[in-house]
Amino acid sequence: MSETSLGEFDLIRDFFDRSELRSKRSDVVGIGDDCALLSVPEGFQLAQSLDTLVEGVHFPVDCDPFYLGYRSLAVNLSDLAAMGATPHSFTLGLTLPEADPKWLKAFSDGLAALAGQYDAGLIGGDTTKGPLTISIQAQGFVKSGKALRRNGAKVGDLIYVSGNLGDAGGALPDVLDGKIPETAQDKSSEYLLNRYFKPSPRVELGQWLVENGATSALDISDGVLGDLGHILKASGVGAELTIAYAPVSGALLEKVGSEQALKLALTGGDDYELCFTWPESRVKPLAEELAEICQLTCIGRIVEGSGLVDIATGEPLSPKAYRHF
Ligand SMILES: [Mg+2]
Repeated sequence: MSETSLGEFDLIRDFFDRSELRSKRSDVVGIGDDCALLSVPEGFQLAQSLDTLVEGVHFPVDCDPFYLGYRSLAVNLSDLAAMGATPHSFTLGLTLPEADPKWLKAFSDGLAALAGQYDAGLIGGDTTKGPLTISIQAQGFVKSGKALRRNGAKVGDLIYVSGNLGDAGGALPDVLDGKIPETAQDKSSEYLLNRYFKPSPRVELGQWLVENGATSALDISDGVLGDLGHILKASGVGAELTIAYAPVSGALLEKVGSEQALKLALTGGDDYELCFTWPESRVKPLAEELAEICQLTCIGRIVEGSGLVDIATGEPLSPKAYRHF
């Protein structure tokens, strides 16, 4: 943490400069100097992503600190996964109204729970006093020139999504009600709350897609219709979708019914699954090798033109903007 931290906030470093969060990598200089130092391996590029989460805007007031820590890091690792990068480390900018040791311990435990899975250590940051705001910058490495970008989708490519969609949106009423998985009223609600608070960054999938030549990819943070629109725009193409193929979980169906589940799958936010395009001529290895990593569903195809069309009706599909709290 920075030496310029204010008063009691110097204490905060105790919660973050701890072995569970420290990078185990030998080539890293982390917390303690004015800058962190890391080496980019030859033949790789540094991939960086920054997300800022503000209380009352991106997460509810009085959110559980453990889950807040976990989720704040997960959304950044998801961006690395979307580019096919391997996570390396992260820095943290934390603005807090007060230094509450219990809150800080739980928050850093949440960060550590996910960071340890990828050996993505905390290598620096800063703390200040103010309204609760969490900024995390995560970095990783990807082979030079190979990163998955949004501008490579080609006419004829198939469009895939990982996992199930809409779960995080289905959890929102419970999230706003202050629920966490441990206080869910039933199994379906518990599953959805876990999907909201502990999204799985699709790191392994992103790495496979880089190695095997996906033409474009991104992570779904604002609903697949809106996010796929970014690929279409960047690639100068359109898409036909079979919206009935949008994959939804049994828990979401049980909780909200099929009509609302489909709506959440298409336009709900915070899923952090990957959406990518793939040449149809190479579908066989995709289906065979990726079955081990995660569920994949083909929801449509890239076509000439622009925008999204519903194959069933021939009507344009308009992506809805993600609504913050
Ligand atoms: Mg993203």
